[in-house]
Order: sequence, then C-alpha cells, then structure tokens
Amino acid sequence: MTSVMAITRDDLGKLLLVQAQDKEIDALKKRLAQIPEGIAAIRAETEAGKAAMEAAKKKSQEVQLRRKEKELEMSQKEAAIKKHQGELNAVKSNDAFKALLKEIEEAKKAVSDIETEVLTLMDEGDAALKGEKAAAADFKGFESKQGEQVKSLEAKQAELNAQLSSAEERRKGLLEGVPAELSDKYEKTRQRRQGIGLSRVDGNLCTECRMALPPQILINIKKGHSIEYCDSCQRILHDIATVSSSAA
Ligand SMILES: [Zn+2]
Repeated sequence: MTSVMAITRDDLGKLLLVQAQDKEIDALKKRLAQIPEGIAAIRAETEAGKAAMEAAKKKSQEVQLRRKEKELEMSQKEAAIKKHQGELNAVKSNDAFKALLKEIEEAKKAVSDIETEVLTLMDEGDAALKGEKAAAADFKGFESKQGEQVKSLEAKQAELNAQLSSAEERRKGLLEGVPAELSDKYEKTRQRRQGIGLSRVDGNLCTECRMALPPQILINIKKGHSIEYCDSCQRILHDIATVSSSAA
C-alpha cells in the first residue's frame, strides 16, 4: 500500500524521534502503574501483621480466662472440702460419715486435677503472652517499615510523574514538525501495534515482524517520498539507520 501524500525522509526522521519519546513515555507509564500495586502489597502485609497480632492477643486472653475459671472452680471445691470437714463432727451414722469422707476424698482429687490443669494453663499463658508480644513487635516493625516504604514509593511516583510530564512536553515539541497526516497514521498504527508505529527496514526485512518485503516497497522506501507500510505488521516503514542515540 502506497500513500499519495508526499513526505520527506526528514519527516520520517522527525517521527522516529517521536517514537523514541513514546517508548520513554510508555516505559514511564508502565513503572507508574506498578506503584499502586506496590503500595497495596505493603499495606496488605501490615494488615496481615495486624490480624496476627489481634489473633495472638485473643488467644492470650482466652487462656487467661480459662485459667481464672479453673481457679474459681478450685476455690469452690476447696470451700466445699472445708464445709464437709466441718460437717464430719455432726454426722451420727457410720455410713453417713463414710459417705462424707468419700465426698471429701473425691473433692480433694478434683482439686489436685484442677491444680494440674491450672499449671498447664499457666505455661500456655506464658507461651501465649510471648506470642502476643512477638506478634505486636512484628506488627510495629511492619507499620514503621510501611510508612517508609510507602513514602519512598510515593516519592518515586512524584518523580516519575515529573519525568512523564516533561517527556510528554518534549513529545509535543517533536510532533510539531511532523505533517499531520503522517502523525495521524503513526498514532493509529502505534495503537494497534503494541506502541510501535514505525519499523526500520534491514536488507529486505521489516525489523519489527521479520517478514520479507516486496521489491517495489523497498524501492519506494529508498526514494523516501511516500508512506510505505509493512504488509505483515502494518507498521510504517523507513530505512533511517539512526536519528539520535535514543531513537530506534
Ligand atoms: Zn512488519
């Protein structure tokens, strides 16, 4: 496909500078797009740390509550033992005396069992408290790290945004010298072709898609008076080796 519009090699050279600028702009936008994800990931880590801290605290409180319940149960049993021991003197029959003794023995056994449970719960409580402190320290660490990391990402974001506006400003300036018809065609091709609107010809190959080009197209490109497209990838073709160090 050959355009009837007359263009010059110089126009294509200017457009190449625009493309180089577009590559820089695209790279900046890509980096900018990653920043909110980075911030979200940092916040998620802190949220997870907070949840772990709260879970550890809840566990510690539960163990403490269970221990208090057991201690209460134990003091009730001890009170019952004391009461029964007082009652022993008042018992008249041997059977009743024996029954009461048996009850006292059982209560003493229960107290001993509860004592063991309380000791276990004390150990569990110590471990839970340790866990609670460790989780709180982790969370504090995450929290302070989050502040710094988010701040540094936000600073990066501001820096990239500044770079982006000056790159866009430069692009505007570069585009001014390009004929409107050529720049329109470039924009359309760029949108359809992953941001690359121009492709250099190397020998008889399109360097972007590596397909061979017909001889007539190659001749037209050498003349440099028309817009030529690659049949395969539809990019605008040129044979300018280098325009500037940053141009593709
Ligand atoms: Zn191509």
